[in-house]
Amino acid sequence: MKTEKLPQVVIVGAGFGGLETAQRLANAPVQITLIDRHNYHLFQPLLYQIAIAGLVPSQIAYPLRTIFRRQKNLTFQMGEVTSIDFGARFIRSNGSVIAYDYLVLAVGGQTNFFGLSGVEENGFQLKSIESATSTRNHLLRMLERASREVDPDTRKALLTFVVVGGGPTGVETAGALAELITHVMAKDYPHMDLSEVRVLLVEATDRVMPAYPEELRKATMNLLEKKNVEILLNTRLTDYNGRKVTFADGDPIDAHTLIWTAGVRSAEITDRLGVQQAAAGRVRVEPTLQLPQHPEVFVIGDAAYVEDSQHQPLPMLATVAQQEANAAARNLRNILKGERTEPFQYKDPGLLATIGRNAAVARIWGLSFSGFIAWVIWVALHIYRLIGFRNRLVVLINWAWDYFFYDNQVRLITRE
Ligand SMILES: Cc1cc2nc3c(=O)[nH]c(=O)nc-3n(C[C@H](O)[C@H](O)[C@H](O)COP(=O)(O)OP(=O)(O)OC[C@H]3O[C@@H](n4cnc5c(N)ncnc54)[C@H](O)[C@@H]3O)c2cc1C
Repeated sequence: MKTEKLPQVVIVGAGFGGLETAQRLANAPVQITLIDRHNYHLFQPLLYQIAIAGLVPSQIAYPLRTIFRRQKNLTFQMGEVTSIDFGARFIRSNGSVIAYDYLVLAVGGQTNFFGLSGVEENGFQLKSIESATSTRNHLLRMLERASREVDPDTRKALLTFVVVGGGPTGVETAGALAELITHVMAKDYPHMDLSEVRVLLVEATDRVMPAYPEELRKATMNLLEKKNVEILLNTRLTDYNGRKVTFADGDPIDAHTLIWTAGVRSAEITDRLGVQQAAAGRVRVEPTLQLPQHPEVFVIGDAAYVEDSQHQPLPMLATVAQQEANAAARNLRNILKGERTEPFQYKDPGLLATIGRNAAVARIWGLSFSGFIAWVIWVALHIYRLIGFRNRLVVLINWAWDYFFYDNQVRLITRE
């Protein structure tokens, strides 16, 4: 008996967008190859928890082969996609060539240092398990070194932690770092004067959390100040050499730690595709998420440039990537059925960010609120969104333990 060959769908990237697309196509009459350079899906919104010694990587990452164990129409390949030939319809990954009938590019983003090479070389970033783990090691090492440092100026520089970027990641990191020091490290280093510690949040514009309404921006500032985070607004960083932070105006600050959360751009491969790119290197797509001139190619998530009804670019958020994935999968099914593709419309589910223990800000169903209730919603939502029952349970126990005993679990300095 002759079996008909199913259309080949290649999905590049198994982040929020790629994972959702693959799952949405589970029962479609296609054969899927999912490719990622990692063998796991990473829940990036909790990366800062690794940096502040709250969680271990395995609690926020999940093996892709386990996720797709039961999906019969999908094969996973671990590999780095290095080039794509849109004309001949194939990709190159790890030296081999994989042909496709349909391609979904969900390659995500990378940190944007805006050409500040000193920051790139000497600063820390939160974009991968490796970068978050080396941030944790470094933070803990600074406390160890400070505990035996006799020179007061050097000690202060070791205990000065600069977080750059007033968006949700910077705010969450600064708040959690301040708490790690006041609640946890104070117990580990009883002889150290932790009043010498400074956690600074540096933002180039006049506001933190720019996407949030005014009342929540104010609440964020108040919550951070209560945790002794110093907020420097209208402060543009110009260089960092690993010891000194330099600004466009004002005095430099001696600091052995700088965490950069001030920019994201599309993944490196998008620069090599010969396609039209918009701000932050994102690939311009049609409203249906298809690549112009290549309706068989969809680009979604952080890598795609899509505007909302007000002609503003959609933010680089997991929720955007997941909704776009859903739309791309639906459009792909439409093509297979010979139907028209539909334009994508983002439905804003609201905004939510935590600023440490008992403190979060939220905008849900048009209502703004902050404090304990927002924090409970944040905890519940993040546990729910993690993949795997085991991870959910372990993270819940971990956070409950930290909450009641003020004791972050993962205060380990490991070799890298
Ligand atoms: C620290 C941090 C905190 C965040 N917090 C939030 C939050 O609270 N809420 C929210 O909604 N969003 C948050 N985001 C943003 C969110 O994580 C991204 O918007 C989302 O991950 C984008 O999904 P994506 O599928 O486009 O890309 P990603 O999830 O980044 O996935 C891209 C995948 O492509 C793979 N890849 C890239 N290039 C190649 C290649 N050449 N070959 C093979 N594989 C490749 C990568 O390994 C990766 O697995 C946060 C991001 C960070 C970094």
